[in-house]
Amino acid sequence: MSTSLRRHGSDSNRAPFRRVVVTGGCGFVGSHLCDLLLDSGVEVVCVDNFLTGTKDNVVHRQLDDRFELMVHDVTDPIPIPGEVDLVLHLASPASPQDYLRLPVQTLQAGSLGTFSALELAREKKARFVLASTSEVYGDPLEHPQRESYWGNVNPVGPRSVYDEAKRFAEAATTAYRTEHGVDTAIVRIFNTFGPRMRAEDGRAVPNFIRQALAGEPLTVTGDGSQTRSMCYVGDTVRGILAVAAGSHPGPVNLGNPAETTVLELAHLVRELTGSAAPVEFVDRPVDDPERRRPDIALAWEQFGWKPETDPRKGLSTTIDWFTAQLNGTAARER
Ligand code: NAD
Ligand code: UDP
Repeated sequence: MSTSLRRHGSDSNRAPFRRVVVTGGCGFVGSHLCDLLLDSGVEVVCVDNFLTGTKDNVVHRQLDDRFELMVHDVTDPIPIPGEVDLVLHLASPASPQDYLRLPVQTLQAGSLGTFSALELAREKKARFVLASTSEVYGDPLEHPQRESYWGNVNPVGPRSVYDEAKRFAEAATTAYRTEHGVDTAIVRIFNTFGPRMRAEDGRAVPNFIRQALAGEPLTVTGDGSQTRSMCYVGDTVRGILAVAAGSHPGPVNLGNPAETTVLELAHLVRELTGSAAPVEFVDRPVDDPERRRPDIALAWEQFGWKPETDPRKGLSTTIDWFTAQLNGTAARER
């Protein structure tokens, strides 16, 4: 087993993970986590109801006897026989387009789903990691965002179904730690991109790539001056497992501090795809955050984690994957 998955921190003598539950494991980030765990020799139980994910993301693992797929809605209790060392809770719609069309299911995934996953961790005496989000900072008034910032969230705006569900999930995770002694951690993931994003999921990276490859206008919202900090998925999942392997409760920011405007991102995708497609300015979504950049000092100090993939290189890899998908020549493995 990889030493990167050995537990450290104050519990350095504890055994490495043997069997891990990944809720939302058929999604974009979750499926990469399943791969990294399986590649490290760990058994994985992937729990997913295909709300926004697909079996295609894990189909290359179906013959691996260390991999188990449980088709299940995590808003119901999660019955898993046998030992479990770690529960990674990712099940939730994540793209704005998804959570805006699934508002109640998003709130339920963050509330009922988080309780189910926490109960599972409590029953199994497992470590628990919540995949939270930079969206808990809302439209941040502090920049860059540190974990100590409480955020600026509109509780009744359209994005609140996601933001408040994750804020509730953080509170529930904290309560299980204090009341029930569950070994919990919270990671706040900033914008992540890479292979296996759905071409139609509405997020900026897949939209721009799909549009550029099709020769269609790249739809930039507002004047494109709002910023995001884009992290390659390989770095994000490495960070999640680094936090899981430690004993720190978090919250811990995971993201790439390389900040870019959305217009710059669109032009970079045009350049890397060699597309002559124009940029088209369209309406900005309500409450779309103005800027976002993680302060990752805590992740570095506690876990020695920082992103290693240059966003430009990560984008090229992602473009290659989308191109292969569109040509029907994709190997689903990566
Ligand atoms: P995704 O939509 O690709 O994956 C989510 C997965 O959860 C899907 O496979 C979906 O079917 C599953 N799911 C949703 N509700 C479920 C339920 N009730 N029961 C069982 N399964 C359910 O999204 P993603 O981008 O991979 O995000 C994964 C997690 O990471 C989410 O919790 C998200 O909030 C968090 N996150 C992602 C990003 C990012 O940039 N991708 C940023 C911040 C946080
Ligand atoms: N965006 C855009 N064009 C698109 C999709 C998104 O300009 O086709 C913008 C969006 O308004 C936001 C930024 O890109 O300002 C990032 O959006 P995304 O949905 O990827 O992530 P999030 O809003 O969750 O940060």
